[in-house]
Amino acid sequence: MTSSTFTVLSPVTGQPVTEVALASVEETDAAIERADAAFPAWRDVAPGERARLLRAFAAVVDAHLEELAQLEVLNSGHTIGNARWEAGNVRDVLNYYSAAPERMFGRQIPVPGGLDFTVREPLGVIGVIVPWNFPMPIAGWGFGPALAAGNTVVLKPAELTPLTAIRLGELALEAGLPEGVFTVIPGKGSVVGERFVTHPLVRKICFTGSTGVGKQIMAGCADQVKRLTLELGGKSANIVFADADIAKAAATAPYAVFDNAGQDCCARSRILVQRSAYDEFLGRLETAVGAMKVIDPADDASEMGPLICAKQKETVLGYLDGVEAAFSGSVPDSAGDGFWVPPTVVLTEDTSTPIWREEVFGPVVAVMPFDDEADAIRLANDTEFGLSGSIFTRDVGRALRVARGVQAGNLSVNSHSSVRYWTPFGGFKQSGLGRELGPDAPNAFTEEKNVFIAQD
Ligand code: NAP
Ligand code: MG
Repeated sequence: MTSSTFTVLSPVTGQPVTEVALASVEETDAAIERADAAFPAWRDVAPGERARLLRAFAAVVDAHLEELAQLEVLNSGHTIGNARWEAGNVRDVLNYYSAAPERMFGRQIPVPGGLDFTVREPLGVIGVIVPWNFPMPIAGWGFGPALAAGNTVVLKPAELTPLTAIRLGELALEAGLPEGVFTVIPGKGSVVGERFVTHPLVRKICFTGSTGVGKQIMAGCADQVKRLTLELGGKSANIVFADADIAKAAATAPYAVFDNAGQDCCARSRILVQRSAYDEFLGRLETAVGAMKVIDPADDASEMGPLICAKQKETVLGYLDGVEAAFSGSVPDSAGDGFWVPPTVVLTEDTSTPIWREEVFGPVVAVMPFDDEADAIRLANDTEFGLSGSIFTRDVGRALRVARGVQAGNLSVNSHSSVRYWTPFGGFKQSGLGRELGPDAPNAFTEEKNVFIAQD
């Protein structure tokens, strides 16, 4: 069967950039079989040598940081500042997990009659399925710890954003990773992605994307009791109490939702503001949104670029249809056929409105007033999602109570941090299953084996 191709478009202009060949089921099977064949030797590489190879991979990524960043601007319309951070994140994640092979500790457990110990054994071939919103970091959060734990990896980038992943696959070989250890397979979700789920040699799926597709993959994995990590959607709350530094809360709120044009599973797309500070906050928010630099993402000063594709733009505009915006930012005069939508702020007190309930995945934020702490926690938790959130207050006790009260995997106080590779990342409720990153991530790519040795 011959492969089809996909035309990558520039989100900035809507014009074609390049053609990418899409893998067929047969090509996917062949790549999975090569990854399986490469597994025993990779598993048996001495820990210090695997560590050295991961550090070499990190160094090669670092040497190509600017090239990777420019490629992401071209393919995904990310601001160059973000794209440099994203390429740097791949390097940092590889360096962080390069310490893991020499530290895959088991336990020695006291038992009668002998000695009992546990070992962490790699699973085999890991299938990483990546969405289009953060093509480089999300790839790295999967392949970094998976490789460190001694697995081989097949990775499917999103159809829309394959270019940096393809380059990372080449850089891995350049760094000295053996053939078949890390293979990037561009293709359709319904072809390559589904084959990862159904192919018995793929032992675990590491998926990031929409909640709908995540549920389908979870159901598919059940057939082989295949291991699975899901990082899905979000509708995270940014809760601003009246006792907070309102100027700081208002100045940072636009970046917490409009970064990456709102195409961020951690976007704080619901802002809850205590009623007594509501007017002051909104006044300051309007100033901050108006000042956002929504310009050519290749410009160093750019703070927000276009959406990923025409369909995503249409989806986002659909949410705004018939909805009155309180205020919005700008798009470039030269937007032309690019996929631009201005940062938009909507006020609502209706918790049933789609803008309040659904993941828009675009530069749209809903603002709602609340009365007291209990009201804030109730509104924040009134969602099927639970990925992240922010709490702005000067009251330490309140910060602790609300951080414990909000049902979400990643909360930050007086800041908007979500994803740091040092700390675990993942969702409550329908935002996901399992955790990525942090010190324990390699364990998620292993089985724990228990061995008892009788002494008599
Ligand atoms: P998606 O369909 O869930 O795609 C994510 C990844 O899964 C892509 O690589 C996709 O491949 C692949 N895929 C699709 N169908 C599959 C299947 N049946 N089996 C295996 N893999 C499959 O997400 P999307 O359509 O790109 O975006 C839709 C919405 O999802 C967004 O508007 C947003 O709400 C949400 N989203 C969330 C995140 C997040 O970080 N949590 C990221 C992206 C999107 P293709 O590229 O070929 O479709
Ligand atoms: Mg899709």
